[in-house]
Amino acid sequence: MNAKEFRVAAKNLIDIVADYLENIEERRVISNVEPGYMKALLPSEAPTEKENWQDVFDDIEKVIMPGITHWHHPNFFAFYPTANSFPGICGDILSSAIACIGFSWIASPACTELEVIVLDWLAKAISLPKCFISSEPKSEGGGIIVGTASEATLTALIVARDEAKRKYGKNASLNFVAYCSSEAHCSVKKATIIAGVQCNLVKVGDDLKLNGKLLEEAILKDKSNRLIPIFVCGTIGTTNTCAFDDLESISEISQKYEIWCHVDAAYAGSSFICAEYRYLMKGIENCDSFVFNPHKWLQVNFDCSTLWYRNVKIVERTFAIDALYLRRTDEQCKSAPDFRQWQIPLGRRFRSLKLWFVLRMMGIKHLQETIRKHINLAKLFAKEIQKTGYFQILEEPIMGLICFRSKENEETLRLVDELKKDGRIFVTPCDVQNKNYIRMSIGSTNVEECHVLNAVRVINEMFNKIKEE
Ligand SMILES: *Cc1c(COP(=O)(O)O)cnc(C)c1O
Repeated sequence: MNAKEFRVAAKNLIDIVADYLENIEERRVISNVEPGYMKALLPSEAPTEKENWQDVFDDIEKVIMPGITHWHHPNFFAFYPTANSFPGICGDILSSAIACIGFSWIASPACTELEVIVLDWLAKAISLPKCFISSEPKSEGGGIIVGTASEATLTALIVARDEAKRKYGKNASLNFVAYCSSEAHCSVKKATIIAGVQCNLVKVGDDLKLNGKLLEEAILKDKSNRLIPIFVCGTIGTTNTCAFDDLESISEISQKYEIWCHVDAAYAGSSFICAEYRYLMKGIENCDSFVFNPHKWLQVNFDCSTLWYRNVKIVERTFAIDALYLRRTDEQCKSAPDFRQWQIPLGRRFRSLKLWFVLRMMGIKHLQETIRKHINLAKLFAKEIQKTGYFQILEEPIMGLICFRSKENEETLRLVDELKKDGRIFVTPCDVQNKNYIRMSIGSTNVEECHVLNAVRVINEMFNKIKEE
């Protein structure tokens, strides 16, 4: 395939992409194929001779689309949203064309330098403290794009473990323990498994928040059993119910016991682009690392998870490996990081392009408006769903998530199943201290008031259907 053929095929594909996103609402939001459906549609071996584009494009509708659950459908209210936008897609196209592997500065200076600058832009846009902003005079911190929040948490934990080994000696590492709330994302537990440290999931009370008092109790108990606390992950907006840990008291305790304080704000972090939500990250100035996912709620398509460290020297000390083929000469650029030393993989895509495109083509103002719109829609949904008289909500929504339930667990789960079979809207359940709830997560790029009101109607209708049986 040469450039001339590419121009034709790729322009065709752009039309397919634009049509898909423009008309997405005509599709069924949840895929209803049977497991293994694809086997019957594709040959068992790759073609020996090349095929033509038209046949490949035809297979998009035949083979791929039936097996897609449409995350950007305005009736997608499951999980947490994932973002998408045309500027983001454009950034990924350009990244695919350049296709560099930006592990060091010389591997593509623009790849490193744009990421440094755009992460500073973003840090300022959400008002992260100066210690995380690389261009601030006294700062020792900075930001990096990684693939996912899970990866960010693991990376921070590995750095914390390495620091602790230097402090307590290598042999102490068997006794290292990391903390998070019992409501934290399962990726924190997974990180401890990979890093080989113990995990203390601190049981939280009815408010579903980890706080300094609970953390300190857990630390003292573990210390009396000869364990060595090294790390705590505070969650700003849990996945289950969007609960907010009390970061201020957690970070105080983490300082008192000299343990690394990492903040997982994967979903809710995007809201800090609006000043009125920043109170939720009070205490951030005492934390060591902070991650959120612009690919969840800030119009950047997956994957774009942004991670900031307070002290990048410690990170580089952990991950510094010197291979001659990677070594850089000092003149190359003292002021730019070698991002391979801030992350687990060596290779990295040029992901800052899509973030840069989104920030420039939307502006902070539009991003703020979108967040506020989604939160207002969540408040509207909360009001309307309670009006039906059948449902109660867990609490008034702070972000775009509402958890609601009928009186019984079984009935609530049955409703989720019926809604899934019906296929007009997609919601998922959660479990809060032995009570089942339905999570209604509002954040799709295309969602409007009419979709939210329609969801209330569909939920009502399906609930009545169950009741009548
Ligand atoms: C979604 C979510 C994650 C996982 O994010 P990935 O980027 O998929 O790893 C972690 N923590 C919280 C609080 C989340 O909501």
